[in-house]
Amino acid sequence: MKKLALHWQILIALILSILFGIFFTNYVQYVTWMGVIFLRALRMIIVPLIFSSIVSGVTGIGSAKNLGRMSIKTFSYYIMTSLFAIFTGLFVVNLVKPGVGADLGLSSMVEGLDASAESFGQTLINIIPNNIIESMARGDMLSIIFFAILFGFFATRVKSSFRLPIEKTFNAIFEVMMQVTMFVIKFTPFGIFGIVSGLVAEHADNLLPIFSRMGIYMLCVLGALCIHAFIILPLLVRVIGKSNPIKHAKGMTVPLLTAFSTSSSNATLPLTMEAVEKNSGVSTKTTGFVLPLGATINMDGTALYECVAALFIAQAYGIELSLLQQGIVVLTALLASIGAAGIPMAGLVIITIILTAVGLPLEGVGLILAVDRILDMFRTTVNVWSDSCGAVIIAKSEGEVLKV
Ligand code: ASP
Repeated sequence: MKKLALHWQILIALILSILFGIFFTNYVQYVTWMGVIFLRALRMIIVPLIFSSIVSGVTGIGSAKNLGRMSIKTFSYYIMTSLFAIFTGLFVVNLVKPGVGADLGLSSMVEGLDASAESFGQTLINIIPNNIIESMARGDMLSIIFFAILFGFFATRVKSSFRLPIEKTFNAIFEVMMQVTMFVIKFTPFGIFGIVSGLVAEHADNLLPIFSRMGIYMLCVLGALCIHAFIILPLLVRVIGKSNPIKHAKGMTVPLLTAFSTSSSNATLPLTMEAVEKNSGVSTKTTGFVLPLGATINMDGTALYECVAALFIAQAYGIELSLLQQGIVVLTALLASIGAAGIPMAGLVIITIILTAVGLPLEGVGLILAVDRILDMFRTTVNVWSDSCGAVIIAKSEGEVLKV
């Protein structure tokens, strides 16, 4: 008998988990451990995978000139698509105005929000690790990436009797980590069943009332995310990447469903790397550089969400934002999405940066709190989709021959 493809297994797990969460709410506690184990396994992989992939990616890129070119392309793509996403959000939220007349009775105080938002300058400074082992232990992605790029770059500067064993070792570690990843991926349907049934059971009672109150706002976010994911990004893959976006999307089913279920681009990273390499045919050199960076700094879905949420809050409070203030929203949404960690609900915390920047009340976060977790699933999927499209476009511009 032919084995069912993994993405079908995941889809079935998703549907079963929703039914299970609704109808067997009391039994969910017996299955959530599968989700916990799955997430732990993914997090276990991340640090060694990122470190080895970036070192082997950067040593593979070779010269400073090539590394510079690759970095410029990667950053340009990330900033460009995030801006596209933000403007899409801005357009939709100004068109529909979901916040006008929204029920302010919903707002609840959210404590400790101002303490959690760090200034952008401090975020930049924090990229340089005090102690790389500590950063690895804490999973500070930007610091790990920074050190790995430095390490990889200078590994190419030493004489070949040193350079070659280092290259070989990191390539080997990376290969092993990819094998570990493939092993963990096999358990995705079980992990997703555990995670999603837990989530559904937790929110089952208030799903309908929330939806009726917040429906238009949610539809605005989802509509804008769809425009970005189904029109803008595929167009970029087609026109700039000269590749087939549909074929690429098919190959990305497993990481996209995992992003949706886990709401974490970081946790999904191992699966994204595997899929972009194996199914779309992007080289290790490119995926190793573009994807870990993308999972950390490129969050189109989050950027779009930040912008829609901030304007929704302004509308709900009856505050008219001037053009300049909307410009500030765009800029801070971009910076905030770069600074956001690829973990669940990171976007909810950083929205305070934007609210502060344009002088909106921080309590406004209480308005969007109820539906944040649901929207997180969708925006994370768009975040991962954009990273993968970036890998294809950059690989193509480097002259790689792809499978899509
Ligand atoms: N959960 C998102 C991610 O991991 C970040 C966010 O909260 O927007 O990509």
